[in-house]
Amino acid sequence: TVLVGRRIRRRMKWWRLIRVVKDLEHGCESTVWTLRQVASAMTVEMRAGLATHSGSKLEMLVTFVDKLPNGSEKGTYYALDLLDTNFRVSRVQLGGTRSSTLVCDVYQQPIPQNLVTGTSEDLFDFIASSLKEFVERERDVPEHSLDITRKLGFTFSFPVKQTSVSSGTLLKWTKGFVIKDMVGREIAECLEKATTKKGLKMRVAALVNDSVGTLTLGHYHDIDVVAAVILGRGTNACYLERTDAIIKFPELLASSSDMVINIEWGNFYSIYLPRTVHDKELDADSPNPNNQVFEKLISGMYLGDIVRRVILRMSRESDTFEAISSKLSVPFILRTEMIAAMHEDDSDDLTEVGSILRDVLEIPDVPLKVRRFIVKVCDVVTRRAARLAAAGIAGILKKIGRDGTDGITDRCRDYHEMRKTVVAIDGSLYTDYTMFREYMHEALTEILGEGVAQHVILKVIKDGSAIGAALVVASHSSYLVDSVQ
Ligand code: BGC
Ligand code: MG
Repeated sequence: TVLVGRRIRRRMKWWRLIRVVKDLEHGCESTVWTLRQVASAMTVEMRAGLATHSGSKLEMLVTFVDKLPNGSEKGTYYALDLLDTNFRVSRVQLGGTRSSTLVCDVYQQPIPQNLVTGTSEDLFDFIASSLKEFVERERDVPEHSLDITRKLGFTFSFPVKQTSVSSGTLLKWTKGFVIKDMVGREIAECLEKATTKKGLKMRVAALVNDSVGTLTLGHYHDIDVVAAVILGRGTNACYLERTDAIIKFPELLASSSDMVINIEWGNFYSIYLPRTVHDKELDADSPNPNNQVFEKLISGMYLGDIVRRVILRMSRESDTFEAISSKLSVPFILRTEMIAAMHEDDSDDLTEVGSILRDVLEIPDVPLKVRRFIVKVCDVVTRRAARLAAAGIAGILKKIGRDGTDGITDRCRDYHEMRKTVVAIDGSLYTDYTMFREYMHEALTEILGEGVAQHVILKVIKDGSAIGAALVVASHSSYLVDSVQ
């Protein structure tokens, strides 16, 4: 009876482990039907965000980028990219033809973690000193002295309420940044104040979101690019809209016909989004609860932490892991690169999974059977993320009438006559995580149908936040004195 009891207990543990995974699969389910509902809801929210200033989860921010470059841009520009954990300064040389575009010099530095949650002054002082170092290093180039005013394209990848192409205030932080005194402040002004203090003449001539830089660079190379999506630590999209659709800003009609709109889709919410208890707990524990719900299901900052939460649950509900490792309670200890490595581990005995569990989570000797469950968890979480991202893209295509449902019914439509639609994409989740990319393509085809999907091209565009930002400066700065040529 002792033996039988032990066997039953072991079975129960297995059963509980399987139940955790089954619950997860069930909660993350994203059928084509669901994805189409998500896409439609995205379209509806986009419309609402264009019509009113506060009636939608989507900000639909006017970027004042109403001209896209045509290839004739010329000049030397600086680009500052406040990436998520790094920032980068580049000097971009535009030579008047597409083939003569050059990034001459790049300087990249990690942002010290304490600055991400400190004061805005500390952050901008730090950036300004680095900018100065960068400029000082190029003094040997004869025409580059400290006296000239340098034109800077500043890629600032957070929601900004723009007042012009080169100015705007921060609406809120995302991706773990919490510099409270910065919200509501004029960003370009903060940077210029800090650079002036350092005796450096820098003029923020464009303040752009990373998605906007990506769209701009994408369009520079291919005029069929109509939207851009970022799938990195955070996620977002922007697209080209007709100004007459931007009802909340009637005054734009007088000056422009098209405008890039920064959707800020990370904040999208719909009852159709498949969410589990793990997602809700992650949201509640975040510095921005109830915000960025779409982003928290999709982007690289969060995928690893969803998986960690599921493994913690497995560990609590079944003692197949022996003891519960304290590492499992450390937020964000599992990064998305690790999820990708475990997910794509093609060794027979899942060596990579074993070593990440051992080295990162301090759970040694996990049996192969359990390691397989861990891979399954990575798969479920990543697949849902990729499919939701595809639904978001389908929502944009629907909004601009490029999803193949415009007017004519699907059956009698001649797909051959559809225009090619290109979406520029950047971010390591898409570029470096094969399974994510494949799941996303698969879902987009499912949602749109093959006939339409073959006219939609997803194109990787790197460096939008450097060259793209410089291009925005160049195509919008005819009114500025060209000081560095
Ligand atoms: C921000 C966006 C940004 C995206 C990708 C999000 O968290 O709100 O502005 O474009 O991350 O970097
Ligand atoms: Mg980024």
